[in-house]
Amino acid sequence: MTTPAAQLEADGVDTVVGTVVNPAGLTHAKTVPVRRLNAFADAGLGFSPVTHGFAIDRAGIAFADGISVVGDERIRIDLEALRSIGDGLAWAPASFFDQDGAPIPACARGTLARIESRLAQTGLRALVGHEIEFLLVDPDGNRLPGTLWAQYGLAGVLEYEGFVRDVTVAAGAAGVSIEQFHPEYGINQFEISLAPKSPVAAADQLILARIIISRVARKYGLRVSLSPVPFAGSVGSGAHQHFSLLRADVPLFSGGTGAQGITQEGESAIGGIISGLPQAQLIFCGSIVSGLRMKPGNWAGAYACWGTENREAAVRFVRGTHGNPYGANVEVKIVDPSANPYFATAAILGLALDGIEHSAELPPETSVDPATLSDSERTAAGTVALSTDQAGQIAALEGSARLRAILGDPAVNVLVAVRRYEHDTYSHLDPEALTEKFRMAWSL
Ligand code: GLU
Ligand code: MG
Repeated sequence: MTTPAAQLEADGVDTVVGTVVNPAGLTHAKTVPVRRLNAFADAGLGFSPVTHGFAIDRAGIAFADGISVVGDERIRIDLEALRSIGDGLAWAPASFFDQDGAPIPACARGTLARIESRLAQTGLRALVGHEIEFLLVDPDGNRLPGTLWAQYGLAGVLEYEGFVRDVTVAAGAAGVSIEQFHPEYGINQFEISLAPKSPVAAADQLILARIIISRVARKYGLRVSLSPVPFAGSVGSGAHQHFSLLRADVPLFSGGTGAQGITQEGESAIGGIISGLPQAQLIFCGSIVSGLRMKPGNWAGAYACWGTENREAAVRFVRGTHGNPYGANVEVKIVDPSANPYFATAAILGLALDGIEHSAELPPETSVDPATLSDSERTAAGTVALSTDQAGQIAALEGSARLRAILGDPAVNVLVAVRRYEHDTYSHLDPEALTEKFRMAWSL
């Protein structure tokens, strides 16, 4: 039988890169020669526990419980998810283990895998679809000309035709399923939607898609900003996550007797998420830059409510129709690209499951732009504006017994630690300085 390593070598692969994403949303990597593939998957490669505390200034470390200079962990690549990605390189996502092979509780990918199996134990299956919004900039992170750019404009496709085509081809070759790819609202901002997959596989696919986009951009002398707000005062970038739930292959978000045809369990799942938004906001859009995006009018879902096709609701319900053949699903719009996507999905699905287990109530639907309601109408509808204050979000997650039960204390502690470091070190900066400093923080 051909081993995976021999097969890769036959395909011209010489180097294998494994990636992990830390609580601040930073992607870290190690590479091995292809003959070391199995060692990377089995014994793993050493990674210091401080990785969990690496900060978005790309220099600092947020020391906290479980983030220490003492000790050594291992990252092991998942051979099931290994992909050859061209030009002699193969890629696989990795998870953290200790040296005896036990999972590290603060590992984001491991945490999501635990939630995925918890869903399976209760007879549920989730599908998750990611959206990627990003801005093309020059190698120094400066704005590129946008003379012809128009929102959703054909000019954007033609201006970057080679880039768009190369990303499409490279994604196809690496098994990344692009659903659509188009110019977005902001100047030189693009969006790619990815096909739904099971939760861990979907987040893996998102990371691979970011790698492909960034690699092709380099070939054109471009770079990719994954900042939630690349330039102060202009359009932000989201990292919206869509999900659907099935019990014995029967969807929970359609075919029921509740609001919009949602089933009882589906209603409770959405109710569980909405009530958990303030506590989980730090996980979804909690960077020091994120608050600049979380404003009414940005289509970022700045209100803690739900509505069918409502782009100002944190939770947008998408009906299953002829035009939406995947079926009804729920989009959590507040997630941005500074989030660790594994932790974000873990929080979404964990809150949904918690909602189901506690028969959470679905609040009434918000079918208008919440900004058009008066304060008292919003209060009556239970629709609150989400916080833009990072300190409040840190306190809400740190004190959340619910999120601690869902993700575990080690995960919550590292998530809090990295954002607290940002707050303590950079909250005195104004929006211009903040967006400038962190424009390329999440870039690959
Ligand atoms: N760019 C918006 C955001 O920051 C989203 C626009 C859209 O609805 O696709 O989330
Ligand atoms: Mg968009």
